[in-house]
Amino acid sequence: MSFFKTAGKPFIIAGPCSAESREQVLETAAALKELPVQLFRGGVWKPRTKPGNFEGNGVEALDWLREVKRTYGLKTTIEVAEPHHVELALEYGVDAVWLGARTTVNPFQVQHIADALKGTHLPVLVKNPVNPDVDLWEGAIERVQRAGVTDVAAIHRGFSIYDAGAVYRNPPNWPVPIELKRRRPELTIICDPSHITGRREMVANLAQKAMDLGFEGLMIETHPDPENAWSDAAQQITPRALKELLQQLIIRQEFTEDMGKSTELEYLRQLMDSVDAEVIDLIARRMQLSERIGAVKKDCNMTAYQPERWRDIVATRGEHADRQQLHKDFIVALYQLIHDESIRRQLEILQGTTKPVKD
Ligand code: PEP
Ligand code: MN
Repeated sequence: MSFFKTAGKPFIIAGPCSAESREQVLETAAALKELPVQLFRGGVWKPRTKPGNFEGNGVEALDWLREVKRTYGLKTTIEVAEPHHVELALEYGVDAVWLGARTTVNPFQVQHIADALKGTHLPVLVKNPVNPDVDLWEGAIERVQRAGVTDVAAIHRGFSIYDAGAVYRNPPNWPVPIELKRRRPELTIICDPSHITGRREMVANLAQKAMDLGFEGLMIETHPDPENAWSDAAQQITPRALKELLQQLIIRQEFTEDMGKSTELEYLRQLMDSVDAEVIDLIARRMQLSERIGAVKKDCNMTAYQPERWRDIVATRGEHADRQQLHKDFIVALYQLIHDESIRRQLEILQGTTKPVKD
């Protein structure tokens, strides 16, 4: 069984953003050993956005993590950003390493680290890059796997934005990790609500949302005195808060063994399949009408795009959406796609590359 698979339970990684002192590390570990935590995290080298901030205690902190393992039996994980971090992780008996968001973004650096991982058997977690690029994320995972690492998992920690008033520190952009899971169904994906929210009050809700969406684990920054943490003070929670969070977390499964519910689900899915078939048939009919309109426009030497008509579609379809209790923005966005395709087809007709289909 893979290092990151836990039958039916979320894989929990907890511990401070940074390993600040021996006391802080051991105090956190003493509290976490009572909880269902699979890995104890502690940042040893911290990638800080600006110079001059606390950049980690380096090798000294590796000694404290070794003590955590020896004293409390907790497995440990650290971030590696350089090949020699991998060597030191092995020397000090670290159990798993992770690549941070600012490393995943750089294929050269990922490759250097992957080369250092060759032949080590260290489990590796790959955080998403700071930008929402699923190929770059998958590419980093591939580099690590090609180095022969068999235990690889992904961590979703949200994506950078430029917006001082934003709700999230790094908005989750859920379609990105969901697309990674679609491409790599075998991959364990762990959510990091600490770096996504950036605010401890929001961590529990986001953790639940990750469970609702089918994520397989959580990485949560935990500190005995979060307000006074040396890094990421606003987002860390106490071990006691983590205990509460884990007790209240509703764990969802992908399948159910309840036969009655399974049958009901199957029936509803069949109904949905036939509604989708109707939706596609209707869109095809709409496109045929659009092409016939294109032919008339061509005969009269009219433009394919008619701003007045588009304004009318936005207004009337938006009102219709309201009456059906559908979000106006959602329907307008859908019509934007349909209208774009209509215009594309009409342009082909105006340019004489296509003939309209007759009814
Ligand atoms: C961290 O986990 O403390 C960290 C620096 O994360 P990220 O790479 O997601 O910013
Ligand atoms: Mn952090």
